[in-house]
Amino acid sequence: MSSYVNVHLTNSNRSFDSPWTYKVPENFEGQISVGSVVKVPFANRRKAERAYVTEILNKLPDHLSEDKVKAVVAVLTGEAVVTSEQITLAREMKRRYFCTIAEALDTMAPPYVLTSGSKSTQAARLVDRESALDLLEGDDLRSINHVRIIEFLLEYNSAPLNEIRQAVGVSQAILKTMEKNGIIEFFRTRVEKEDDTKIPAYEHELPKIATPEQNFAIDSIVSAATESDKHELKEYMLYGVTGSGKTEVYLQAARQILSMGKEILIMVPEISLTPLMTRRLRSRFGENLAILHSRLSPAERYQAWKKIIRKQVQIVVGARSAVFAPLENIGLIVVDEEQEGTYKAETKPRYHALEIARMRAMLQGAVLVLGSATPSVSSFYRSQSGKSQLLTLPKRIGTHGVAQVQIVDMRRQLMRGRKGLLSDVLEDELRQILEKQQQAMLLLNRRGFSRSIICYKCGWQMRCNHCDVALTAHRRSWGHSEDSLRMVCHYCDRLRPVPRKCPVCDSEHIGGVGMGTQQAEIALQEDFPQARILRMDQDTTRSRTSHDDILSAFSRHEADILLGTQMIAKGHDFHNVTLSAVLSADQMLGTGDYRDAETAFQLMAQMAGRSGRGQEAGKVFFQTLQPEHFVIRTAAAQDYETFYREEISFRERMQYPPFGHLGVFFIRGFSPEDTAEGAQALHAYASELIDQYGGSFKNTDLSAAAPAPINKMRDRYRFRIIARDPSVEVLTRLLQLTVDNTKMPEQVFVSVDIDPWSML
Ligand code: ADP
Ligand code: ZN
Ligand code: ZN
Repeated sequence: MSSYVNVHLTNSNRSFDSPWTYKVPENFEGQISVGSVVKVPFANRRKAERAYVTEILNKLPDHLSEDKVKAVVAVLTGEAVVTSEQITLAREMKRRYFCTIAEALDTMAPPYVLTSGSKSTQAARLVDRESALDLLEGDDLRSINHVRIIEFLLEYNSAPLNEIRQAVGVSQAILKTMEKNGIIEFFRTRVEKEDDTKIPAYEHELPKIATPEQNFAIDSIVSAATESDKHELKEYMLYGVTGSGKTEVYLQAARQILSMGKEILIMVPEISLTPLMTRRLRSRFGENLAILHSRLSPAERYQAWKKIIRKQVQIVVGARSAVFAPLENIGLIVVDEEQEGTYKAETKPRYHALEIARMRAMLQGAVLVLGSATPSVSSFYRSQSGKSQLLTLPKRIGTHGVAQVQIVDMRRQLMRGRKGLLSDVLEDELRQILEKQQQAMLLLNRRGFSRSIICYKCGWQMRCNHCDVALTAHRRSWGHSEDSLRMVCHYCDRLRPVPRKCPVCDSEHIGGVGMGTQQAEIALQEDFPQARILRMDQDTTRSRTSHDDILSAFSRHEADILLGTQMIAKGHDFHNVTLSAVLSADQMLGTGDYRDAETAFQLMAQMAGRSGRGQEAGKVFFQTLQPEHFVIRTAAAQDYETFYREEISFRERMQYPPFGHLGVFFIRGFSPEDTAEGAQALHAYASELIDQYGGSFKNTDLSAAAPAPINKMRDRYRFRIIARDPSVEVLTRLLQLTVDNTKMPEQVFVSVDIDPWSML
């Protein structure tokens, strides 16, 4: 008797993303399971296609005839690389995120190279260091990515391509271009299989004696885990300021649920920013822990994945993509700092880890716990409307109280003709801190040297020719021309030299406006020549260990001031920090995103929580031009609930999430006419659907097709259509039907997203 399989092709699109049936030839009998990867011939394509086995059939479906069914031609992995639950999840993701089954499975499966057992890999090095240095000094390089690759290789000599891609954040294509241009060369190097036993030293830690509030939370979570009715969501919101003992609740609940024979999944926003959490998990659970995050090398990731799928570990901690960890008997899913934007994927499939966590909690009957000191307005609303249960930890553990926050009105400073980074009060405070050998954290949420370059005479602003945005000035960091500026586009990474005079009016009076972290570092150093300053932003944290390096150097007091973007505000515990400040609170407000009040509040409240974690009481300063703004006032008072009440009524008034949802079509193309035409066609189809099925779409609101706020990016013109509806399901159906049934002009592409992280 022969058997058959249903597969999903990886090279597919939504129009033929259905299960296709193939025969399993005798020589592969018994080697294939659900979740295997095979190769199959398809239609009249010349090469066999990679496909995931999603079902095993022991007889041919009635509508197919034996002679029409082709056979599997190769088995790439006999061992399943995805579990059946992940296949179910992929079907859900296809529906919700407009991807194919295989695209969803590809985000869950381990790195493919390694599963196919290759022993060597491609690496790159510079062809010639001297000429590479010359390139850095000149103005011939076209992309900041080329600069970063050269800088990386100057520092490390050589590295496997996948490591370079991860560390620098570039695509394979960019490396290929640089090879073609003779800047770098490729060679083969051995894959180092990670040593399994390399677990860092840790100390065992005993659980703390829980406070009554902690006990209540732990008991609620654990007893929910013992009720085993699947398909009913058991969701909790654990709300409490930083230091109120949330992590202790996760750890103790996890221990009890683990002893019921179940598995634990703990999500953190970005693992390199939460070394404390991993250390604590390690000290409680020892070897029974796998750590997954984006900065692992493929080999490390594969090792971790293998341990999970072989059930050698029961606890998984990790960042966004760890939400797919192949656990099959989960009892508890924790999403710590649930409000963080890093949980939302910005490439296809554009999933939100919190939504996936919720789907998995349903599928496996696990308890879902969201933890935060500053919950997202949407998640907190769930706890106020009966969709989840609120657990509150009202105060910080220990004696130290809440830091005093002072709002500094920068308008007065400006009126007295004092510009610059630091107000007089902050400068004084900083001086005193440094004298007392204490530490300070300063947040400036803009990287680079200055926001842009303008002509002081005619107002011309230097913009990217390929994108509809201003260029940011960055300082060079290598060679003789160190300190000079170059202009970088933050959207397409292209470089331009700084012009000597204004191309419009010929004035030589041009210069930067809006200070970024690079310039702030220099200005601070001038004010405080003896201070040791560390800078932390996207530009100083490219390599795999740099987050950790900077943070541990700061915690060892190897620096006095930590200056950085929002990265510095997240979840660290520095006992010697007694001053923290938000240098320009206004920068975070009025960005045009409906969520900006929420993110600004979160960031400021986090900064306030950073100061005075040790014995000494801390001081916090918010510098602003809008001292009356409700976000600044409530953040200064660390009063989430007042903030929430004001914000939720705004959301309700505007029908923004969680009351309504936004479904956005982004249409991109090189030709403005074709792109507009594509956008019109989508709009026409969607409007017709709404007219035709008025009943289902009675609350749907559809905007006209219009140029997006950034109407050109990387030379592609961009249009946008926004649909709004109270129901995600209705929006999903509308977007899906429209995209699947509208034919786009050649070279015009559509992507759709619901409640996207950026609307620009
Ligand atoms: P959060 O996750 O809310 O920031 P943590 O769980 O990290 O809070 O707790 C803050 C600090 O208080 C940690 O050092 C932790 O070890 C300690 N802690 C937590 N709960 C207790 C407790 N019940 N008794 C004593 N110390 C505790
Ligand atoms: Zn000018
Ligand atoms: Zn650009």
